[in-house]
Amino acid sequence: MPVLPIVRLGHPALRTPAEPLPAGRLEEAATQRLIDDMIETMRAADGVGLAAPQVGTGWQLFVYEAVDAARPGEGIPLRVVVNPMLVPDGHELVYDWEGCLSIPDLRGLVPRHPAVRVRALDRAGNPLDYLAEGFEARIVQHEFDHLNGVVFLDRMRDFQSLAFYEEWERYLVEPGAAPGGARPE
Ligand SMILES: [Zn+2]
Repeated sequence: MPVLPIVRLGHPALRTPAEPLPAGRLEEAATQRLIDDMIETMRAADGVGLAAPQVGTGWQLFVYEAVDAARPGEGIPLRVVVNPMLVPDGHELVYDWEGCLSIPDLRGLVPRHPAVRVRALDRAGNPLDYLAEGFEARIVQHEFDHLNGVVFLDRMRDFQSLAFYEEWERYLVEPGAAPGGARPE
């Protein structure tokens, strides 16, 4: 499976709202191959999520996974999410670090809902309806934003926390902590 090029900030695909995948297109070999390639691309880039616009494709589709080979059985298993709708669970917002595969090397504190209900289709076209919480909720909101032409910089309330990865790791993150910003999405 080929690894696809990831487009960076400035590419119009990142600012163009994605279209819903029409019924019937999901099962096509080309779409299934795109999904496989996106999973491969996310893993090759050591990311925890990837949305179709990040590989220059305008479908409402994203993948995510946050597992650590050293800790089998833990983490967030692979999900393929098609044509999603998100409903925030509650009104409060929580801040944590985020990075983006399309904005290499930067990290910033981003407010997100701590939990969101996800209604979507899986890659077989079966309905998904689940509650994502914590780090998973953060990933889902980051990827959902990509489907609407929004990047995490747009969500930051204050650019004081914006940092390059090396400086972030050196000065800003607690040693031993495993915050959201460790791997981009
Ligand atoms: Zn991103």
